[in-house]
Amino acid sequence: MTEETLETTEIKDTDIVFDCPHCSKSLAIDYRGAGLTIPCTDCGNYVEVPIPEGMDIADIDSTAEEQEVRILNLRRSLSSAESRIAQLEEELMAMMSRREQLEDARTNNLGSLKSIRENAQKIKDGLSQMTEAINAILISASEKRD
Ligand SMILES: [Zn+2]
Repeated sequence: MTEETLETTEIKDTDIVFDCPHCSKSLAIDYRGAGLTIPCTDCGNYVEVPIPEGMDIADIDSTAEEQEVRILNLRRSLSSAESRIAQLEEELMAMMSRREQLEDARTNNLGSLKSIRENAQKIKDGLSQMTEAINAILISASEKRD
């Protein structure tokens, strides 16, 4: 086997060549693998094979087995998306109940602010009544002196 034939058997013109996003290893896969999620030969992480520009996934004449793999991959993505949604929903519920607590605390603060204002008004009223009473006493005292 010469070096040339080795190379041509390794990477064909129709192969999709891309870098693993996890370990940057250069990967080559048959064009029919476009859109599939496959484990990286180097690091073992699952990577999605890019679909070459101008190529439609429907153009790929895949076998029943390949389509089954694609369906399985889609199901896996769907179930992980579903668990992510469930997780986000839980977070949302927690945030909503936190918001409710904050709203309650705010209402309580507004309530105590209102009663402070009412008490201050009562004190002010009391003071002005006392001032009136003192003035009345002073007036009557000065009248008696005259
Ligand atoms: Zn890798």
